[in-house]
Amino acid sequence: MKTAVIGFGAAAIGFVERMKNTNHEIHIYEKGKDIYSSSISGIRADGKLFVSKEMGGNIDIELNLQKKIVDYYIEKSGSDEYETGKSFKTENYYNTFYGHGFLPVKADFYHLGTDQLKTVLFNVFEDFKSHKNIHFHFNNEVRNVDIKNDKILINNSDEYDFVMVGVGRSGHKLIKSIIETHPELILNNKKLDLGIRYEVPDHIVADLNKEMYEFKIKYKSRTGYMVRTFCNNPSGFVVRENYGDFVTVNGHAKLKEKSKNTNFAILTTVELTQPFNDPTGFGSYIAKLSNLLAGEDKVILQTYAKFKNSKRSKHLYRVQPTLSSKQYILGDVNLAFPRRIIESIIDFIENLEKVIPGIAADDNLVYAPEIKFYSNVLDNNKFKNLKFGGDCSGLTRSIIYATAHGWMVADEIVNKK
Ligand SMILES: Cc1cc2nc3c(=O)[nH]c(=O)nc-3n(C[C@H](O)[C@H](O)[C@H](O)COP(=O)(O)OP(=O)(O)OC[C@H]3O[C@@H](n4cnc5c(N)ncnc54)[C@H](O)[C@@H]3O)c2cc1C
Repeated sequence: MKTAVIGFGAAAIGFVERMKNTNHEIHIYEKGKDIYSSSISGIRADGKLFVSKEMGGNIDIELNLQKKIVDYYIEKSGSDEYETGKSFKTENYYNTFYGHGFLPVKADFYHLGTDQLKTVLFNVFEDFKSHKNIHFHFNNEVRNVDIKNDKILINNSDEYDFVMVGVGRSGHKLIKSIIETHPELILNNKKLDLGIRYEVPDHIVADLNKEMYEFKIKYKSRTGYMVRTFCNNPSGFVVRENYGDFVTVNGHAKLKEKSKNTNFAILTTVELTQPFNDPTGFGSYIAKLSNLLAGEDKVILQTYAKFKNSKRSKHLYRVQPTLSSKQYILGDVNLAFPRRIIESIIDFIENLEKVIPGIAADDNLVYAPEIKFYSNVLDNNKFKNLKFGGDCSGLTRSIIYATAHGWMVADEIVNKK
């Protein structure tokens, strides 16, 4: 069977890994010019791998399969160097957070670190390349996918028996063009996570970092919105993320180079209701407004006290930012974010202070905007030979879930045969 995968990201890796030892002819289209410029963002940026039923996506993925994929990536790093931990393995922390209204999320996690990820990608690629049935087409952005009788047509010219679209979030243009022709594919598009990246001195969260590295908690704030932590980076760095027409903040940690601060995101989940149904438009608008205030390609930085009191920050005190001073402006996030979001975040931090003293200190740092867009949830039962794998399907949000999803899509084909 002649098969194509569009995008060489985590989902594609899972798909190809499951298919590589079959006699299927597999073609991989990737818009990046080589593996290093393919935008497997998480794989390039941080490489935190989670095994959990409670996070990473909205599909059920067996823990065994998740762990198998973690082992696969560790093996491809060619070294045995990684950090690992279990969130809330002891009842002590679990009960304390729970007692203050938080919902602790249980997960096993493994951190390869940004510095090792190039090797992982290189080794995955070298392995796939050595299989005669696998063909890479880099520098090849797919703009069109059409269904023609029993075949799938790519870019109006190449015909396939089966196609998995695995273009992640960065492939939103292609997904948009497909759903314009097939709006019946959309099952749901209402959600958006909007918030800040918070940076504190390591010592404030030292015990927590030592116990579990990544603390994931959810909290129903008094505004009614659900607030959660995301992507904790002990001794990490805050970075700017470029979306093309706006910039946001993010964070990462390296295995070797360390800072003196821990950063994590505090995100509020906004679920829009009728008649409004454009969460991406809503998030982009707020990001652009933040950038406008900060000056083009900069983000806003504010101390927590000023954030809480809605005053512009003019000075920093004890906590020094890990983001380069060329990439932020001291300002007031309140001018860009809706009040309900700000109130949800403040309520979250003030409540967290009861569990982690010092987390609400006046001079801790607030960076904005941090935004997580959710893709439309697409219906994978609509067409038998055109499937969506990984984040672009709206079903996954992590390296492990996206890889497993690609693997499962391929497994279905292999088993059918
Ligand atoms: C900065 C950042 C850090 C992250 N850190 C983590 C982390 O530590 N742990 C974690 O679990 N998750 C992390 N994530 C999320 C994780 O990266 C994704 O969930 C995962 O990579 C999704 O896999 P995917 O295959 O669906 O898409 P991707 O991995 O994004 O791959 C999509 C591929 O498709 C290509 N493409 C796009 N459009 C086209 C087109 N039209 N034609 C051809 N090719 C195309 C892209 O170039 C890309 O290579 C992070 C995300 C970001 C942005």
